[in-house]
Amino acid sequence: MTGPAPVAPARPRTDGDVLREIPMPPYVTVEDVQFAVRAVVVHAPRVWSGGIICRNDASPHPCRLHVWGRRVLTLRGLPSAEIDALVERGDPAADPRPYRPGA
Ligand SMILES: [Zn+2]
Repeated sequence: MTGPAPVAPARPRTDGDVLREIPMPPYVTVEDVQFAVRAVVVHAPRVWSGGIICRNDASPHPCRLHVWGRRVLTLRGLPSAEIDALVERGDPAADPRPYRPGA
């Protein structure tokens, strides 16, 4: 009765450095949208010899703020092509779509 040695069950990798996410707002306000536009524009991708990095903080693109901004804009109903267009335009004050709360 010499079976194979018991193998330790595969454990999910618990990396100490888990990407801490910026909390999402409970609902997306106009200010969130403006901030998100600024985030994706300022934290735009930049092609570097080692790959694509954030233009602002040089971390691998997409950095946390870019991801956050994109998520907010997605929540706001923006298709990702439109977000790409915003990033490409590079205008941090762009208004992604006419939106007037309570008007
Ligand atoms: Zn960044």
